[in-house]
Amino acid sequence: MSDNVQFPELPRIEVPEHPVWPELAREEKEALVAKIKEQLRRQNAVLVAHYYTSSDLQELAEETGGCVADSLEMARFGSHQDARTLVVAGVRFMGETAKILNPEKRVLMPDTRATCSLDEACPAESFAEFCDQHPDHTVVVYANTSARVKARSDWVVTSAIALPIVRHLAERGEKIIWAPDKHLGRYIQDQTGAEMILWPGTCVVHEEFKAVALKRILRLHPEAAVLVHPESPAEIIALADVVGSTTALIKAVASMPHREFIVATDKGIFHKMQQVAPDKTLIEAPTLGVGATCQACAECPWMGMNSLQSLLHVLETGEHEIHVDPEIREKAVLPIRRMLDFAEQHKGA
Ligand code: SF4
Repeated sequence: MSDNVQFPELPRIEVPEHPVWPELAREEKEALVAKIKEQLRRQNAVLVAHYYTSSDLQELAEETGGCVADSLEMARFGSHQDARTLVVAGVRFMGETAKILNPEKRVLMPDTRATCSLDEACPAESFAEFCDQHPDHTVVVYANTSARVKARSDWVVTSAIALPIVRHLAERGEKIIWAPDKHLGRYIQDQTGAEMILWPGTCVVHEEFKAVALKRILRLHPEAAVLVHPESPAEIIALADVVGSTTALIKAVASMPHREFIVATDKGIFHKMQQVAPDKTLIEAPTLGVGATCQACAECPWMGMNSLQSLLHVLETGEHEIHVDPEIREKAVLPIRRMLDFAEQHKGA
């Protein structure tokens, strides 16, 4: 259906170099971590980190009573905290979602320039105009969008809950505008048979996985299971044993009998996978550098802006606070709550 649809011209996305943080000696790192812990305690703050952030941040979040999770769990977790400040280590839409759900709390991020190619590929104004041209469609947007785009939507979904929500809408006979990730949208469309218009955004990290190279690795590791995040292109998904959200892929490593796994998603996830299954071998799905749009393949450059150093800086200065226009917030909270309520009602389903 998307083949006959005219989309507005999408902005050119500037992908930064992956940040390189100075190597820290053990004592330096311990001193830094101690300062961060003290700041978190003094400011009644809790650290909420995504699976794609560095192992240092993931460990710190767990040690200090915060959480490491996918974006659905990050959103839920922040709402159930007494802490006055949420420090969100991830990318900007995650900080905005935390603020939308917790307007009374202060939300800080190690670096608010940490965006996402999906968010950037879906400018609020042209997206709203596009939706206005298709008034008979239900607007379903991925969490990787700005607060303004969420405010124009009927549903917000994460990759962990997208399938059951779209299936539910398709069963009600609803036609869907899906934005912004076309690969995830195509996968959901294939699984549900829903009638969907797919906005043509992509993730610069997952877009780089290459099927030819993956088949080559599979020949070397024929017993390995292939785990794929559905933001990957269709030819990668076609080679998968498991397709799922970050949480689903971590569970697969822990529960499947295989000894080896080829993993097609951001490398940051290896930390948690190795934690839950220390005796299993994890192999990075291959990317090809030539012609790649992402200079740091399989590692999100924006997630890389989160570090111990940038975290301490915001805690000491109060910089990089997230603000969301109250009018936008009032609209954006509705489709997010709709998703969280749906997730609650369908727990264990
Ligand atoms: S890995 Fe892809 S989807 Fe995730 S934040 Fe980075 S650019 Fe966005």
